[in-house]
Amino acid sequence: MSRIVRLNISPETAADQSLVRKLAASVAGISPSGISQLRIIRRSVDARKRNIIVNLEIEVFASDDQPAPAIQPYVPQDVTGKLEVIVVGAGPAGLFAALRLIELGIRPVILERGKDVSSRKKDIALISREHRVDSDSNYCFGEGGAGTFSDGKLYTRSKKRGDNRRVLELLCIHGANENILYEAHPHLGTDKLPGIISGIRMTITESGGVFLFGRRVSDIIVEGNKVKGVVTSGNEKFLSPFVMLATGHSSRDIYSLCTHRGIKLEPKSFAMGVRVEHPQALIDRIQYHGKERGKLLPAASYSLVKQIDGRGVYSFCMCPGGFIVPAATSPEEVVVNGMSPSTRNSPYANSGIVVEIRPEDLGDYARFDVLAGLEFQKKFERFAWEQAGRTQSAPAQRLTDFLTGKTSATLPAVSYFPGVISSPLHEWIPPSIGNRLKAGFGFFGSVMRGFLTEDAVVTGVESRTSSPVRIPRDPLTLEHTVVSGLYPCGEGSGYSGGIVSSAVDGMNSAEAVASKT
Ligand SMILES: Cc1cc2nc3c(=O)[nH]c(=O)nc-3n(C[C@H](O)[C@H](O)[C@H](O)COP(=O)(O)OP(=O)(O)OC[C@H]3O[C@@H](n4cnc5c(N)ncnc54)[C@H](O)[C@@H]3O)c2cc1C
Repeated sequence: MSRIVRLNISPETAADQSLVRKLAASVAGISPSGISQLRIIRRSVDARKRNIIVNLEIEVFASDDQPAPAIQPYVPQDVTGKLEVIVVGAGPAGLFAALRLIELGIRPVILERGKDVSSRKKDIALISREHRVDSDSNYCFGEGGAGTFSDGKLYTRSKKRGDNRRVLELLCIHGANENILYEAHPHLGTDKLPGIISGIRMTITESGGVFLFGRRVSDIIVEGNKVKGVVTSGNEKFLSPFVMLATGHSSRDIYSLCTHRGIKLEPKSFAMGVRVEHPQALIDRIQYHGKERGKLLPAASYSLVKQIDGRGVYSFCMCPGGFIVPAATSPEEVVVNGMSPSTRNSPYANSGIVVEIRPEDLGDYARFDVLAGLEFQKKFERFAWEQAGRTQSAPAQRLTDFLTGKTSATLPAVSYFPGVISSPLHEWIPPSIGNRLKAGFGFFGSVMRGFLTEDAVVTGVESRTSSPVRIPRDPLTLEHTVVSGLYPCGEGSGYSGGIVSSAVDGMNSAEAVASKT
């Protein structure tokens, strides 16, 4: 029978496989030559003390053990000619919903407004080079959704919603490195994601699923509180008694459409703020107690949170060794976000620093009713675009100038390809956000000595952290509370956040659809 052993060892020892084997054998009480396989179950780096430790949990198999496969195979069915379910959106929620529908013998018809990953890369390059944003093909829209050109962090705190492990396994089946199964903070990297995403598309189409690009859903057909299908901007009709709405948090036209069609929405809390960027070497020195990180430690990250005047101020989507990217979905707005390559080897570390906003904080915007949060986001993003001279450059300020209320005379080099323009963010960020950001930064500087430096830059605006709207659904059937056959899922539904939880939500919703057929 296999044995589980735990090793708490130095990074140097952890990098030496033969030493790890010897140590694991000794703890398991068998000789190294009697081991047939070592399987890492969990790996984490503990840098809280000067003496940095790698924690390994390893399953040790002796020669007479029969290890079960680490990954359960994906068993698709041929769904050609089977019941068709419309899946709107090919982000993590839509793609994993489609994979699950196929396992359950149902044919997904995926309608995606954007393009396949390789065509999408060209549109993304145009944002940086020519400051042109295509409202159907950008960092948020297109094959793989907002997760494709991201950091690909796969860490999620929500463990209750479903099978996070299965999402990781399916990513491995489609080309991800198997270390995501055991790393405490797994990530894929923007260079690996496109190949994995197009692999998922191949699985779907080879099983008889339908995948259509350039299909922006512009209407939902509802008759007597039952969904009947959808219409695209090209006036094509797709009919089915089941529609999965997996359109993400940036599909504002879908929310407007819902209000016009009487599909109930609810306001929810969200968060907005700025993205801060430091030299990665500085974050490494802070987190690794003044030491260089060398070759054995990962680019250091951080996770910060503080309650300020009754609202959370926190770091969001921290990207060590990454880049700040232009994540706008329309031409007249500036939105920043972050991504990193699998090696996390850029000289910069960036993170959103955002303030929680509740529906009751929106003052005058209440006139927009359930869409108040969206209008607030839009105003903020448009203002950033005006500040950037109506380009995709980002308004920016040295962190120390933001805190002392001074326009920056110069800016250090940053990772943001479209460039930055000095702007007094302290003047135009609404005080309810700006004052909390300042207090939050003050606290973060006290727990991370060196964080408040003139070498750090804040860029605006980090506004798409989650949806300000929920499309309410029954907690058991996962159907919309009013329109039957409509399954809002993923981040746009307001019930998930991030790649893994949105993928899990897609799979759960697929099972809910299958249980109705
Ligand atoms: C730059 C960046 C970096 C990120 N980094 C991370 C990270 O490291 N880790 C993490 O967990 N999360 C990250 N995120 C967030 C993550 O990408 C999202 O949480 C996740 O993609 C949500 O999945 P989803 O399927 O619900 O929605 P989305 O990924 O937003 O997908 C929605 C899809 O629907 C399509 N669509 C929208 N409207 C329509 C319509 N009317 N008709 C047809 N199709 C439509 C869109 O084109 C899109 O492809 C990042 C996001 C960005 C932008």
